Amino acid sequence: MRRLVRGLAGSVAALVSLTGLPYAVYLLLAKVWNPQGSPAQKRPAEPTVSIVLPTYNEERIVENKLRDIVSLDYPMNKVEVVVVDSSDDDTREIVRSFFVDRQAPELTLLEEDERRGLAPALNDAYAAASNEMVVKTDCDSRVAVDALREAAANLADPDVGAVTGRNVDVLGGSDVEEGYRDVQATIQTLESHLDSTLIFHGPFSAFENEETVPIDPDSIADDTELALKIRKNGKRVVFDPDIRYKEASHSQFGKRRTQKDRRAMGLIRLLLRNRDMLGRYGLYGGVVLPFNWWFMLVSPWLLAASLGLATVGGLLVAGPFGLVVPTGAGLFTFLGSRDRLGSLQSVYAVFDTQVSLLFAAVKLWRGEGSAVWDVDEELRDVYE
Ligand code: GDP
Ligand code: MN
Repeated sequence: MRRLVRGLAGSVAALVSLTGLPYAVYLLLAKVWNPQGSPAQKRPAEPTVSIVLPTYNEERIVENKLRDIVSLDYPMNKVEVVVVDSSDDDTREIVRSFFVDRQAPELTLLEEDERRGLAPALNDAYAAASNEMVVKTDCDSRVAVDALREAAANLADPDVGAVTGRNVDVLGGSDVEEGYRDVQATIQTLESHLDSTLIFHGPFSAFENEETVPIDPDSIADDTELALKIRKNGKRVVFDPDIRYKEASHSQFGKRRTQKDRRAMGLIRLLLRNRDMLGRYGLYGGVVLPFNWWFMLVSPWLLAASLGLATVGGLLVAGPFGLVVPTGAGLFTFLGSRDRLGSLQSVYAVFDTQVSLLFAAVKLWRGEGSAVWDVDEELRDVYE
């Protein structure tokens, strides 16, 4: 019995250290090397810009979004707005009347009769975009006024084909998301300095028009997929924390699952479909992709196994008192999802992401992962 318990305890310790090893390496690299900002050779540039805005039933917030776009610090006669709309509400009428009597920016409105999902809509929009820099932005986000200039400065580096930005303020005040975004910014800065980063963010992603290629019609990691393909074709795709945007999100455990699990499904599927990139494409396939494989596909399972083993071990040693492990995990989740963990909040945020990745793998395996989803109405309140 004692041997069994000791064996279990040893396994749990080994599993936990194994799970954490790549994180420790990344963290150490980030601390010792301490890369800051974008790795691109940034210089002022003023290319023509196509701003791509996909909309599905955004009548409540689309006008505010357009107002934000036209108040960006950029010569609007160099900007074209490409709205691809799949709505059955008044979104497209609102868009059209916003551009009436407006010289600039120019509007290209693509109207879909039937909603096919975001990826096909974006493919049409990218094909229609005629300017040098293509900026994709979600309707439910706010972009800093200097974002186009910062993005253009990154793309002026001939080695860089795409750039994404940083969520500087989580609207709605979710500390869970806030904590995670900070961790993520550190990771993505490191990845960008190594070579390129994996994740591109819906609120702001900029691409060289020449580099855009179609994405899979069933993609649910659209921005990330386009960036990955651009990297595959040779150019670097980087993260610049000086490109700032804001996006709303929930803290509550249940509410977070819908969106986070879907996004996680998209990323897992993308990694699996592009597994041939592992070990190729310089440090992107050599370090960045393997790390993300670990984070998204391996460590959630190791973590779950550790929790399971620790629970079994606890029950064997202490009977009912062995439930302290699952109870602790439950309490951690309860407090974390109510933003009450103080300095541990960012640890909880990573845990929350691991939970999503675990659920996402199961959902994908069960055949879920449709490219058409319910748009979260509650998250849109702050943009009205
Ligand atoms: P999330 O932020 O990942 O939860 O995704 P959202 O539901 O906020 O959608 C991101 C953007 O894509 C928003 O601007 C939506 O209006 C838009 N969108 C979502 N589904 C579709 C679709 O089927 N067609 C089009 N054209 N846009 C869509
Ligand atoms: Mn959104």
